[in-house]
Formats: sequence, C-alpha cells, structure tokens
Amino acid sequence: MSNLLDSLLTEVRVVQLPLTNEFRGITVREIALIKGAQGWGEFGPFLEYDDRESARWLLAAIEASQIGWPTPLRTKIPVNATIPALSPHQAIKVFDSFNGCQTAKVKVAQRGQSLKDDVDRLRALKEHAPVGTRFRIDANGGWSLSEALIAVEAVHEVLGESLEYVEQPCASIEELVALRSRISPILIAADESIRKAEDPLRVAQAGAADIAIVKVSPLGGVAAALRIAAAARLPTVVSSALDSAVGIRGGLALAGALPNLPYSCGLATTSLLTEDLYRFAPVNGEIEIKDPIISESVIQRLSAPSERVQWWRERIARTWIAGTSKLVAESGWSW
Ligand SMILES: [Mg+2]
Repeated sequence: MSNLLDSLLTEVRVVQLPLTNEFRGITVREIALIKGAQGWGEFGPFLEYDDRESARWLLAAIEASQIGWPTPLRTKIPVNATIPALSPHQAIKVFDSFNGCQTAKVKVAQRGQSLKDDVDRLRALKEHAPVGTRFRIDANGGWSLSEALIAVEAVHEVLGESLEYVEQPCASIEELVALRSRISPILIAADESIRKAEDPLRVAQAGAADIAIVKVSPLGGVAAALRIAAAARLPTVVSSALDSAVGIRGGLALAGALPNLPYSCGLATTSLLTEDLYRFAPVNGEIEIKDPIISESVIQRLSAPSERVQWWRERIARTWIAGTSKLVAESGWSW
C-alpha cells in the first residue's frame, strides 16, 4: 500500500488561485495537483476539513489522475449562469457575461439584504433575459421556514413558470421537508444538505428535496457519484465550487455519464477565479467535454511557496492513512 502512496506523491504541485470575490472567508483558493498516468487530479478539500473528511476528495483526485472516467453519453454539458446577490443593474451585467446560458442561478437571502432586494433583482433579470430563460434561486440555507414560505411565494409571483427550482431555501433537512409539502409543486434542490457520500440517500429518503446538487470531490469521484446518484434516484445537477479547471473536468465527466441530465449544471464557475489553470467558458450556454490544456508555465506562475507544498504532501499522506487507502482497497483499483 505504501507503494501506492509513494506514487501519489511522485509529482505534487500546489497552486494558489486568486478569487474574484471573497468566498467562505478566503481570497485565495489553494489546491494540490497530483499527476498520474491519466493526467492531473485535483485535491483541494478546504483547509478546515480534517483528514477523514478529506479522504473522498483524495479518492476523487486518484480517480482523475490514475484511473480515468466512464465513456460520456453526450459531448456538451448545458450550464447555468450564476448571479451573485447584486443590484439589478449589476446582476444584468453578470448575466450578459455568460455566453448564451438559458438558465440563471440567482443568489438570494444574502445577509444584510431584504426580500425586496431579491425580488427587485429577479424582476430586472426576468425582464432583461430572453424569453424562455429559466431561473433557479439559491438561498444557501439562509431562510427560516416561515421566511422561506413568504419569500418563495413572492419569488414565484415574479418568475411564475420560469422558476425552475429553489436551492437550499432552509438549512436543515427537517425544514426542507416541511417547506416542500407546503410549496408543492415548486421544486426544492438540496445543496449544502449534501456534503458527504451518504447524504443524497438521506435527503431522498427524508423527502427533503426533488433534486440533488452533486459535487464530484466530496463524493469520492465520478464512479462513486454515479452510484450514489443512482441509489438516491433524484434528478442530479452537477456542480463545482471553487474547483480549478482540473476539478471542473471531473464535473464534466460526471455530467457526461449520468443517464439523465434534465437540468443545466453549475460548472461555469471558472469566473469565480481571477486566474485558473484553464478556462472552461460556456459557448451558447454549453461547455464541451474535453481535457483542459494545462501548461507548465501557468502552474509555475500560480505556484505556492515550498512550505505550502510540504504542508500539502503531509496532508495527502495523512489523508491516505485516515481513509483513502481503505476506499482504494474497496474500489478494486490498482495502478
Ligand atoms: Mg448552492
């Protein structure tokens, strides 16, 4: 087993990607890249995650770099525009910067703002966007049950049939269950409620959501995410959050391999970074599934100081011991 760990550590690079806006209290996203026979894999659990929680992230990086992915069933993935909780005027500008996206995910319930801010933003976007544009709102769990009931009704009044779903309106599964029965037939998607491999099934069994937002790394890779999505039997929206292009490639692989893909995916997130290893930008609202071209010079330009490389190498070794070695043994992979 230690041979496998050695091979993981053969080529580890660490990059620091500056964020366009502060997110989760950070302004720079630091990730490790590991190289294998299939290319680069991204290992980027947030710094506060412990080694056990990081184990599946490392499994995903191993899959990407050493194993590869299932054959895709489609060549392009429809993606949504993501609109932060901005003023109506700024929100429209951001919407226009996404090339031809037919779905807009709009942030709502921002701390320090009111429901009127959300409604004004959505009304402006609805009036501006081409006919047929779909809207989903994302509250990031920011509403209580009673707030959500009022807000969803107000939003539905503005958007009508173009409201595709409401993402994580409340924080807890219990609140989602209660809300869902009261706003039906408006759909709810679970995002923050899905952080770990067992969560999609839990959300589905509780009846907390109609749609599962799924990210490749926390679930342990594309093959694992496909199994989990199949078991949960919920329509799946593949998403990324502060992934580099290497991580987004994994999201494209998952979206490409899902038997059904009824909704646009949240993979057009490269604009959250001022600089990325490669830019997966949408064309006519879609991102083509292909491998990113990552040059040595871009890695060098974004490289972290050597003490950070050492820190990540140690983290990889600890994470391997804390859980990934067992997950690899169960997967039947060898390389
Ligand atoms: Mg979300």
